[in-house]
Amino acid sequence: MQITAKSDITQLKGIGDKLKKNFENLNINTVGDLIRHIPFRYRDTREIFTIQKFKESKEGTFLAQIVDTKNIYLRNRKKLTKVRVSDNSDKLDLSFFNQTYLTKVLKKGDWYIFDGKISTKDNRSIYNPKYEKYEGDTDLQTNLGKIYGIYHETKGLTSRNIRKIIYNIKNDIPKVVKEYLPTEILQKEKLITIEDALEQIHFPDNKDSLNMARNRLAFDEMLSVAIKIEENVLERCKQKSQKINLDEKLHKEFFKSLPYKLTKDQTDSIKEIFKDIQKTKPMNRLLNGDVGSGKTVVAASCILQSIRDGYSAILLAPTTVLAKQHFETLNEILKPFNIDIELCISQEKTVSDADNKLIIGTHAVLYQKELPKDLNLLIVDEQHRFGVEQREQLLKIGKYTPHYLTMTATPIPRSLTEVVFGSTDISTIKEKPRNRIDIDTKYVPINKRENCFQWVDQKIKNSNLKEQAFFIYPVIEETESDIKSVKGQYEILKEKYFKDLKVALLHGRMKSNEKNKILDDFKNKKYNILISTSVIEVGIDIPDATVIVIENAERFGLAQLHQLRGRVGRGKLQSYCFVIPSENIEKKEFALERLKYFAKHDSGFDVAEYDLSQRGPGEVYGINQSGIPQFKVASLTDTELLKECRKVASQLLLDNNTNIEKLNKNLFR
Ligand code: ADP
Ligand code: MG
Repeated sequence: MQITAKSDITQLKGIGDKLKKNFENLNINTVGDLIRHIPFRYRDTREIFTIQKFKESKEGTFLAQIVDTKNIYLRNRKKLTKVRVSDNSDKLDLSFFNQTYLTKVLKKGDWYIFDGKISTKDNRSIYNPKYEKYEGDTDLQTNLGKIYGIYHETKGLTSRNIRKIIYNIKNDIPKVVKEYLPTEILQKEKLITIEDALEQIHFPDNKDSLNMARNRLAFDEMLSVAIKIEENVLERCKQKSQKINLDEKLHKEFFKSLPYKLTKDQTDSIKEIFKDIQKTKPMNRLLNGDVGSGKTVVAASCILQSIRDGYSAILLAPTTVLAKQHFETLNEILKPFNIDIELCISQEKTVSDADNKLIIGTHAVLYQKELPKDLNLLIVDEQHRFGVEQREQLLKIGKYTPHYLTMTATPIPRSLTEVVFGSTDISTIKEKPRNRIDIDTKYVPINKRENCFQWVDQKIKNSNLKEQAFFIYPVIEETESDIKSVKGQYEILKEKYFKDLKVALLHGRMKSNEKNKILDDFKNKKYNILISTSVIEVGIDIPDATVIVIENAERFGLAQLHQLRGRVGRGKLQSYCFVIPSENIEKKEFALERLKYFAKHDSGFDVAEYDLSQRGPGEVYGINQSGIPQFKVASLTDTELLKECRKVASQLLLDNNTNIEKLNKNLFR
């Protein structure tokens, strides 16, 4: 029977129900999935040594003849197979564990290619080397003697099994996958066909052909991102917002009314936003700035212009606490300008039917039946907390598409913005307001933990209970022994270290009005110390909180640590952030290094870039919600390739003969 990309893998020789289950663990169900499961690494075994040379270099690939095999049953019930091999130059003993069948497979007199290394423990043994029968010519080999791929494995399915199964259908690849890109594009971009690319990515002839294969697959991956970006761009071109007429005089008044001078980055961002909102093309801009860089006032300046020109605006925050905080802040900033501001944080309470106003709220806004039809500006704080559909829904509220601004407090490194925010314009606030004193971050070794607590106790007392502190723990309840929990530490800290102070507990499993009350009380100095999980992560403004202590700190991502650090240093006082690792951190050199880097760098952009280079985007941002593509081959930071792919994508989108949907489905990714 003819196999196709859609054929179930059980149609392939040697794959029964049991293997099918194993393949499912790798998300492989069809022959198409299997062919797209490509190696993540390669091993080059083309250079074939003599035994003598192998002994010298202590590792590598060599060709040898089987002299003798025998099984030895060890006392610990392990079974050892000893295989003696030789060539003209020398002889060698190989050891295999628990593979007694090898005495039948490796027949005396046969030539085999082996790949392995000499154990550094005894400088003699060679354990479980890879082996493959020599076919008389390395061209005829499947793995050894070639560059071979190493695949992600799963229980019951080794890389070797996978390679063998794919090797069996190697010649069917052109039947299963048919080129879907127009020939002109392949020629112009100097790309090999998808059939060739998929064959070479699994079984490369040489390094060049492997590179060509990688280039082709990377192009596909990037093209699918580029198509999405260009589709967004086109979609936006079709929509219309209302022009907002700028009132320069009003802006000057606003500027003068502020108790501080705006930073250059703030001024530049405002200029960029003002330029956008004067057009009928909807603004689609990201305000990318560190915690405390002063994004709110930038948003306020554009809200003011929009409202004064006769339109409504919505400002969305991810939590009730943040929405309330924005409500307070904006009431304050916009007080001199008499603006109608409504807070909407509950589905039950309906907003008034007045138009030309500002609504500040949470998701609850989405459930309102009546929203102002004159909406012309939508600002979303921490957009990643909202789903794509929710955002789309909001863009359709009014009579026209509103201008759209998102703000993020997780600074996104430049190297990522183009792939992730390709169709979005970006304003960046890098510099901090000038009056800001840097937060003093210290890495506290676990044996100095108590000293640190005493210092905090003194610090609060010396300030006459004006200053406050946060203690952050990774979990609510104890599960693993060396991970501290808020509940557990709340009892200990209160009884043992901060007897004279008032300590409160906060975590994500509390009801939201309970949480809000505790935060309010903390802000109003009913408590000196707040012990919390990372629920206090985003945007909380407690000006007198000057100390944050984070325990089991290596359990948090750097971006998250940076967010947490941003909870202090919001007032005029010198603030401190202490990161304390888990007990066993010394063993985790890498985690330790990360924390030390964090302690030395106070820019969120630096921290994010470092975290990204160390852990990759999936770990840092969480793949699903962030919109960061998961490439197998392409590099997220390859902006040249993205540029090229965007050109091709926009060409394809304009070409009526291309079925984009179908193409998109086919593209390798
Ligand atoms: P974020 O970017 O994290 O949203 P905010 O907008 O909450 O930051 O601003 C943090 C604090 O900095 C606020 O208290 C705000 O009043 C203050 N601020 C903003 N811009 C300036 C400035 N240019 N000079 C001094 N303080 C500023
Ligand atoms: Mg903010």
